[in-house]
Amino acid sequence: MSKARICALSLAALLLAAIPARAEIVAVASFSILADLTRVVGGEAVRVEVLVGPETDAHGFQPGPAEARKLAQARVVIVNGLGFDPWVERLVKASGAKPRVIVASAGIAPRQGGHHGADPHAWQDPALAARYVATIAEGLAALDPAGAAGHRARAEDYAKRLESLAAEYRAAIAAIPSERRRIVTSHDAFGYLGQAFGLRVLALKGLSSESEPSAQAMARLIRAVRAEGVRVVLVESPAETRLAERLARETGARLGPRLYADTLSRPDGPAPDFLAMLRHNLSVMVAAMNAVD
Ligand SMILES: [Zn+2]
Repeated sequence: MSKARICALSLAALLLAAIPARAEIVAVASFSILADLTRVVGGEAVRVEVLVGPETDAHGFQPGPAEARKLAQARVVIVNGLGFDPWVERLVKASGAKPRVIVASAGIAPRQGGHHGADPHAWQDPALAARYVATIAEGLAALDPAGAAGHRARAEDYAKRLESLAAEYRAAIAAIPSERRRIVTSHDAFGYLGQAFGLRVLALKGLSSESEPSAQAMARLIRAVRAEGVRVVLVESPAETRLAERLARETGARLGPRLYADTLSRPDGPAPDFLAMLRHNLSVMVAAMNAVD
């Protein structure tokens, strides 16, 4: 190839890179799981930024100027709702910007978590996660009519992948004797999942990772873990290891590998995207439920 031709080609490549097919939509998602779902649905036309990134606890997150700056550029903001990320909408109001706000859990009847109120962790049930992506697709479609068919098609395709993962959950859990279908986790993030697949979920903490168990709650949990013969206590965040270690010590159980509840892992971890997260959690839970020593 001649030098002149290589030059012309690189110039064409530069021009193509500089002129996007249509104006890019900047979407800001409140936490890593929603950012992943929005990337899947939005495709090429949407650039997704995240406020609470991988490996960061969204409960009680304290936004600062960096989050306010990200929100100020957003044309669309995606939040979970159900009391999980109320600070995002407060920050949007304070910024004076007027992005479209998509509440991913819209229309989902919240599970009530005892005295804790509505349970925000609806994404843990793959069928409800499929409703999240449908809601995100409709929100993006309203903002981007030219791309609407693409957003809807990607959401439907992803819903099929979620359905096949749900089938994996059903098959794996059906193979476990019913008295062993229980897990012990550090905060109560798996209620929707338990409801969907018939798992009993015992949690060290409440619906927020911020609350500490009372002495009575801890004593109740120790009795339950012993009575259920649970051998493995699962932890979701390194910050919660101390309580889980205490529970393990007092019951003779051991700490299992990490579950991902409210955050993805970094790209080189076991849960770099939402589907990988669901698959990782299933294998960790199955091993914990089957453990006998
Ligand atoms: Zn949580």
